[in-house]
Amino acid sequence: MTRCLNCGAERDVDQCEACGLTSTAAEMTLRQKLLNRTAIFLVGAIAFVAASERYPALELDGILIFIGILFFLTLGLAMWVERRALRHAEVEAMKRIYYGLIPLPWLLAILLLANGSLDRFPTHIEQARVIGKFSMPGPMANRRLIVTSWREGRRFERIPVDRGDFDRVSRGDVVDVQMHEGLVGIPWVAGVSLK
Ligand SMILES: [Zn+2]
Repeated sequence: MTRCLNCGAERDVDQCEACGLTSTAAEMTLRQKLLNRTAIFLVGAIAFVAASERYPALELDGILIFIGILFFLTLGLAMWVERRALRHAEVEAMKRIYYGLIPLPWLLAILLLANGSLDRFPTHIEQARVIGKFSMPGPMANRRLIVTSWREGRRFERIPVDRGDFDRVSRGDVVDVQMHEGLVGIPWVAGVSLK
């Protein structure tokens, strides 16, 4: 007994009684669906990166590591499902997990956008001393100021900044960091200014 790759119904013969597709046709349909959903997932990941740059969270690096792991797990799962589909093996459970992961980058992007754009809490200023700078060039350019932390139990903060702020500030400067609470409690950085 196997399940139809298209509709998931159990079938004893080559042609599925529920949807009418043969096992080969069902395999083609499944692979097309996997491709479409992977495209939706990839665009979602781009939307997430754009949202994370618009309202950069104080913990941006941790969030990016989390989304990176999610990204490769999801793509790995898609490849695994496709390989099994090629052999006409059972994929139903893994396929559902995969479909469940597709909207995640979109939801996280919306969460970060709402967290920043609907934030009505007043800006609060934190003073910090710049102890290092870090930038990674490329299409997903990353610029961080490493500053002394104002939070208890932490020594450093890695502040995501835009190019203007990054170039203006030097190591040893004392800066005002403009912090926002965030609508859903994800603190984010509006910018830094020199004392
Ligand atoms: Zn079927």
